[in-house]
Amino acid sequence: MTAGGGDLPTPDLVARRARLAETLATEGLAGLWVTGAADLAWLTGFTGSNGAVFVRADGRHLLATDARYAGRVDDTDDLEVRIDRDLFAPVATAVSDGLGPVAFDPTAVSHARARTWSERTGDALVARTGLVGGLRLVKDDAEVGRLARACDLTVAAWRVEVVAAGTDLVGVTERELATRIERTMVDLGADGVAFPSIVAAGTNGAVPHHEPTDRPIRAGELVTTDIGARVDGYHADFTRTVAVGEVDDDLLAVHALVERAQAAGVAAVRVGEPVVELDTVARRVITEGGHGDAFVHGVGHGVGLEVHEDPIIALATTDRLSAGMVLTIEPGIYLPGHGGVRIEDTLVVTDDGPRVLTDAPTGAHPSA
Ligand code: ZN
Ligand code: ZN
Repeated sequence: MTAGGGDLPTPDLVARRARLAETLATEGLAGLWVTGAADLAWLTGFTGSNGAVFVRADGRHLLATDARYAGRVDDTDDLEVRIDRDLFAPVATAVSDGLGPVAFDPTAVSHARARTWSERTGDALVARTGLVGGLRLVKDDAEVGRLARACDLTVAAWRVEVVAAGTDLVGVTERELATRIERTMVDLGADGVAFPSIVAAGTNGAVPHHEPTDRPIRAGELVTTDIGARVDGYHADFTRTVAVGEVDDDLLAVHALVERAQAAGVAAVRVGEPVVELDTVARRVITEGGHGDAFVHGVGHGVGLEVHEDPIIALATTDRLSAGMVLTIEPGIYLPGHGGVRIEDTLVVTDDGPRVLTDAPTGAHPSA
């Protein structure tokens, strides 16, 4: 990983692998065969399409890839790079040499692939989820630095293309506005976009994941932009809903209600608090405002090397907030045939409460 994060702190990959090795030893595992792209990038910096890392409790780790990626990652004291078309060979060999149980993440691989591995290792290969994900929940300084930069670039592009444009947005299509925002994020220094931008004008705002169309923005409408820049593999996620010109009072009241719910969710961020509490707090505001049925998704999710990662803030979540978690708070109200409002920030949990990374006004009429 390079580019937009070049001058930010270098990630300590050796320390990450050492922490995982420690976890494996605690869990009675001799190794973990890591094939998921984000887990692999987090542990080694490798971002090619064909690679895997064999992390071992004894600290002798091995990155397996093919000849196309030779030289992409250097050997270090704790990590050997092995070029081999048969990526799994080191695991099969270690297991037949009696290394002990090796885990893999069944959510990162097809059932068929996992079966071919098992045929070579027998019972020594065991399925385990969340071993790397549990460590990735808490971001280190190198990660928070990249996320903060991605968020800064996202907000800067929004200020230029949405706030400064004001009523000049009338007649601009959703698709054109999406393109302008994405181009500006890259012009400002982003490596690319975190995900395809959502621009939803007027009644299209009632669709949470609306894809931008050739429909022009009209005066008197709310426009929702859900956008994010990507910096060195890290993603921003930021939504604002603004009024273009004068908008009906009932829609402005809905906007104000979402603003209150979002602020309540952010204010509830505290180390030790159950993650699900953030959803409860924001949802209560919207329900008491009479629109509980129109808030049709969870209040947020973790953000990092993936746009949606743990913790997913849903009712089933038992996690508690820890310092260093990065997550979104994004309540919305969606009224089919009428319009919609969503307001989303990306924030990092600190010992002093939330630090909002997408620092930008939340009102319907922001000023430049
Ligand atoms: Zn979003
Ligand atoms: Zn989001």
